[in-house]
Amino acid sequence: MKTIVNMNNVHKRFDSKQIETHALQGVSLDINQGEFVAITGPSGCGKSTLLSIMGLMDNASEGEYIIADINTQGLKVDQRTQIRNQHIGYVFQSFNLIDSLTVFENVALPLEHRKVKKAEIKQRVEEVLAQVDMAHRQSYRPNQLSGGQQQRIAIARALVGKPDLILVDEPTGNLDSKNGDQVMALLETLNKAGSTIVMVTHDSRYARCASRQIQLLDGQIVSQANTTPPNYAEKNRKLQGVA
Ligand code: ADP
Repeated sequence: MKTIVNMNNVHKRFDSKQIETHALQGVSLDINQGEFVAITGPSGCGKSTLLSIMGLMDNASEGEYIIADINTQGLKVDQRTQIRNQHIGYVFQSFNLIDSLTVFENVALPLEHRKVKKAEIKQRVEEVLAQVDMAHRQSYRPNQLSGGQQQRIAIARALVGKPDLILVDEPTGNLDSKNGDQVMALLETLNKAGSTIVMVTHDSRYARCASRQIQLLDGQIVSQANTTPPNYAEKNRKLQGVA
């Protein structure tokens, strides 16, 4: 099994005025291809910081981070940007779509940055829009869509470059429960189709959709558990005749 994420003793310190915050305190973590990992824990425990470092949006203060066999230590900003564009798809809580562009143009952006040919872009964008069930909205603008639809477009944008890793930060945070459930069902489907996903969530119901839950507290991993999806657990109970 290929290892996509390999973190070794990662620390992150933020210095502001006289206050130093030690946001990550020695995180070591391996994530294999095809896993769906949920990172949980109380507010301020370091979840977003961990995701930012994984997504090469920020640097570790100390420790080693290898993504898809590339050691990221000492890389220049443009090298990091290139690796991010090539290997990582990012889904934000607030969607981060560009309102002046159409749905098609938003999803095409990562491929435009890679200078992919127009015909290839068209084919790939249509493919991922169909995957998230939004093919019929490709000429709409993001502000003409519901929050749930916008998040599905953001997921299509993360998927379009066939990344090794999809990072998802509180994907349901701005959605009502119906739209939240739909977005989670989509992430589950994508994972079953082969995508490796790491999701930050404070919602324990959604964390159970992942195949592994990692709990952070004060910048450290305090527990890791493989998760049995709830519907599977229910089926087992019925088979064993337990009410
Ligand atoms: P979570 O996502 O679990 O809520 P964060 O990763 O956002 O936690 O934050 C972890 C700790 O690091 C918090 O104490 C937070 O205040 C601090 N922190 C995060 N980002 C910065 C920053 N840019 N500058 C200073 N402190 C920060």
